[in-house]
Amino acid sequence: MTSKRAWWAIAALALLVCLGCGGAVAAQTSSAGAAAAAPAARKAAAKTAPATAAANARPKLIVLLVVDQMRADYVDKFKGQWTGGLKRLVQEGAWFREAAYNYAATETCVGHSTISTGAFPATHGMVANQWWDRDAQAMVTCTSDPKAKNSAYAGGSTKGGDSAWRMRVPAFADELRFQGGGATRVVAFSLKARAAISMAGHKGDAVTWFDGGSWVTSSVYGSMPFIEDFVKAHPMQADYGKTWALSLPKSSYLYDEQATGAVAPPGWTLTFPHELKGNEGSSGPDAAFYDEWATSSFADTYLTQLAENAVDQLGLGKAGGTDFLGISYSSVDYAGHAFGPRSWEIQEILIGLDKDLAGLFQHLDAKVGRGNYVVALSADHGVVPVPEDMQRTGADAGVLHVPEVQAKIEQALEPFNYTKPVIARVAGTEVYFSNGTYDRLKSDPAAIKAVLEGVRSVPGVADVYRAEELLDRPATQSAIRAAEAASYFPGRSGDLLIVPKPYWLVSSAPAGKARDYGTGHGTPYYYDQRVPLLFMGWGIQPGQYFGRVTPADIAPTLGEMVGVTLSSRDGRVLSEALKPETAPGSAAKSGAAKP
Ligand SMILES: [Zn+2]
Repeated sequence: MTSKRAWWAIAALALLVCLGCGGAVAAQTSSAGAAAAAPAARKAAAKTAPATAAANARPKLIVLLVVDQMRADYVDKFKGQWTGGLKRLVQEGAWFREAAYNYAATETCVGHSTISTGAFPATHGMVANQWWDRDAQAMVTCTSDPKAKNSAYAGGSTKGGDSAWRMRVPAFADELRFQGGGATRVVAFSLKARAAISMAGHKGDAVTWFDGGSWVTSSVYGSMPFIEDFVKAHPMQADYGKTWALSLPKSSYLYDEQATGAVAPPGWTLTFPHELKGNEGSSGPDAAFYDEWATSSFADTYLTQLAENAVDQLGLGKAGGTDFLGISYSSVDYAGHAFGPRSWEIQEILIGLDKDLAGLFQHLDAKVGRGNYVVALSADHGVVPVPEDMQRTGADAGVLHVPEVQAKIEQALEPFNYTKPVIARVAGTEVYFSNGTYDRLKSDPAAIKAVLEGVRSVPGVADVYRAEELLDRPATQSAIRAAEAASYFPGRSGDLLIVPKPYWLVSSAPAGKARDYGTGHGTPYYYDQRVPLLFMGWGIQPGQYFGRVTPADIAPTLGEMVGVTLSSRDGRVLSEALKPETAPGSAAKSGAAKP
């Protein structure tokens, strides 16, 4: 993906994925901290869902919304700034206050796949945004597919091929189509291929993402004339020269106007307003402009318009079956990587999304009918504070430089006469040894001891697990080790999985080199794992729910509403938020718990 991706892709790789990490104690501490920080229990105004819901045996449309990198506590902290769709979700929906991933690989492809399949990465196999393919001896992205060919709408350009073929289980949308009898349309939009594809699954009618100025799909999904028409009529390049500005008085924003440690995308300063004009001196859309656009509210608005148009053009919710509309909003992630979670940019992006979702819900009320659709909103992962910002609190925070890990391992093996290079790749926090090296290490106690000691000596490393320690999921004990195990997929994950310390950002840049982004995610700590989870609409019992749940519960819960059975789910049905009388074939579900 293009340009934008360029800077943040480095960030993503760096930060990312998870690692393994350390500590149950740390995880519990941060969990407790988050709970304490949450405002005292408030009873949501328990507005009752429209009476039309009970008239339908199942929802006509399922709307899955994923806000990339949205921390759960953004709802608590910023909801006073919202008046539209996000506010409506909180007030009219079922709000799960303690939703968190249970695994370590808190990255985009992993989170979306978990939401869409109801399974953890150890089951669905999407273990990272990209990993080292031992057969191909190359990095592969989670959606790259040698048999697929991407194509761009409206004369745009793209390359490669993408699909969900590496996802080892069907997505909920795949099962909905299959078990529902063919009357289901599956539509998904995002700026990111790995989000749109993992939401839609292996098939889909309109699966669309953004690639450096072009809207793209692949031969696996096929193109849709109505999207071609829309993109031609509404080129995103028309946003060139526009300004992304604050929409509320300055006194309405939390934290400093300029976020500590932030690194603005090329062409931008560290404070509002942000002009979408690309690199200095450019006279039209360039790579920097596409990055800026993707980091602004303009991109969220465009995705929403694409979705509303799909509802109209395909008549979603009107075909007799249950249709599926997935939208993954990527801009919070881009703004978060650049400016961090304590920035005005994050708040402004959410203010814009709140307005966009107000429009989307109004559109669905009018076209599908209030109470005829169900919305689920969550996030694929959270984010760690910018290290320099966190250090101001006196906390132990910093940057773990992955090249130092590689150097320490190579140094540790020097006396043992191993064939070089000993390491094939360090991808995020996963170490992949060259073919044969790890097998030899496993029966060489002195060498493996030296390797592990070397890794643990790198600043920011809390712990390191060997692959074979993660194979037995049920037997794992500590929360961090269990999180690593839930992320571990044999043959695909690394040989060593490094656990950074809490508040340490993982960077693929060498020490001493300035970062080109502010912060990231990809660890088993609660700030990366905890995300919002809200349902609203058909069959949903509004209220606030404080039980511990995971986003893997979303697909089983949707499945319950439409009578779809998932083969390999790790999540459960959130029955406490379902109205007993609207669950399929169950007029007498008296056992459903109330909040
Ligand atoms: Zn990210």
